[in-house]
Amino acid sequence: MRKNISTLKLPHYKSTAGCAAVRIPVPKEVLLPVSPMNSHSATAAEPVVQVGDHVRVGQLIAKEKDRGSSDIHASISGTVKAIEPCAQGGRKSIAIRIESDGKMEKYPDLPIPQPTNLDEFLECVRLSGTVGLGGAAYPVWAKLSAAQKNHIGTVLINGAECEPFITSDHRAMLECGDLVKKGVELLKQFLGSEEFIFGIEKNKPDAIEAMKKLFADDPAVKVLELSSVYPQGAKQVLLYNATGKVVKKGERLASLGVIIINVSSLIKMAEYFVTGMPMVERIITVDGSAVKEPKNLIVPIGVSVRDIVEACGGLKEEPGKILFGGAMMGKTQESLDAHILKATNAVVIMNQKDAAQTEPSPCIHCGRCVAVCPLGLNPTAFDRAMQVEDEEKRAEILTKEQVKVCMECGCCSYVCPSHRPLAANNNAAIGFIRSWERAHKEGGK
Ligand code: SF4
Ligand code: SF4
Repeated sequence: MRKNISTLKLPHYKSTAGCAAVRIPVPKEVLLPVSPMNSHSATAAEPVVQVGDHVRVGQLIAKEKDRGSSDIHASISGTVKAIEPCAQGGRKSIAIRIESDGKMEKYPDLPIPQPTNLDEFLECVRLSGTVGLGGAAYPVWAKLSAAQKNHIGTVLINGAECEPFITSDHRAMLECGDLVKKGVELLKQFLGSEEFIFGIEKNKPDAIEAMKKLFADDPAVKVLELSSVYPQGAKQVLLYNATGKVVKKGERLASLGVIIINVSSLIKMAEYFVTGMPMVERIITVDGSAVKEPKNLIVPIGVSVRDIVEACGGLKEEPGKILFGGAMMGKTQESLDAHILKATNAVVIMNQKDAAQTEPSPCIHCGRCVAVCPLGLNPTAFDRAMQVEDEEKRAEILTKEQVKVCMECGCCSYVCPSHRPLAANNNAAIGFIRSWERAHKEGGK
């Protein structure tokens, strides 16, 4: 990655920054996909309940198989009504539908974890079902397991939250200080890290203040005030701005002695060590021009967007676009029947005017998309490659142009005067290259 990282100044639209998170009423049902549904390389967990079973909050209902999936736990108490195929955001999965008994009864066998060494600690994090809550949904234990091979001297805690609309990390920092502290203590104890750096954008002065106060007596913790530019929270950008380090091609972050953890992931992980309750709920931001009362909400995983909208007073206009995530990286959902995933940090519902898209026109070779890419990639090459019919040739170009490095930040689409859907094309290209690689690996070629 080049060192003068390009970033964009975007409107923030963070009107919910002052809205404390409120818990929604118990929903009538939840739908819990057993696959993370937001990653090209995710695998599915295996259901361990059957239709008709009674389940309680925190009970394991699907067991993960590998680093590409996580344990799924019942987020409400009630009856398993179906184990069925589901599709949302362009991805498919098996999902477990639970009908609520209205009681939110807690599963009785949830002991407080008491790890004594790194391996036990990682196993506990694994059982907590915590995944990266900044969007990637990669299991947190798998990320932390890098400490088994490398000394992780520095932990970067990502509180940048640079995407327009989203304020759920911001609220979590203000409202869950004890858990932030517990999370840092756990990583200090089991990873042996000496340095903790919070990266928070300057547009959250109260969160910066709160973190500084929380760790005022701890010289191992620094709170870094970052400029409010996009994509400040992206791994490569945060790493460079916080430490001056750059991950080279093929290099892992951990080999530099660094890991990056999203602040809400840190909080969820810590919560398990305090309460024994695995990941069954989260804070989400609900905003957008079609939403009557934008809010931050505490919701059970698997609740429908429809229930969330109701908790926000309904819609004031017909929805034009429903996004899981912010305006830049959010994934479009087909309808209000989509269900919240572990990594859903926001639901943004735009009215039809804001959602209207300008028809793309041919590329004028202005080079803006290349100039703005924080990773120095060439999105026009991906665009052209996807039009190549010969799949082998297409795969060759995409590999050469390092499409898998693309973090789908959307900066290239944002600046394109021809309104080419470059980020969406990059997503399709990454999907293509991953399937191509899988097929050729399985085929033994
Ligand atoms: S979406 Fe990918 S190619 Fe486009 S600017 Fe972001 S990292 Fe670069
Ligand atoms: S920004 Fe758009 S028009 Fe300019 S080179 Fe990139 S794809 Fe072409």
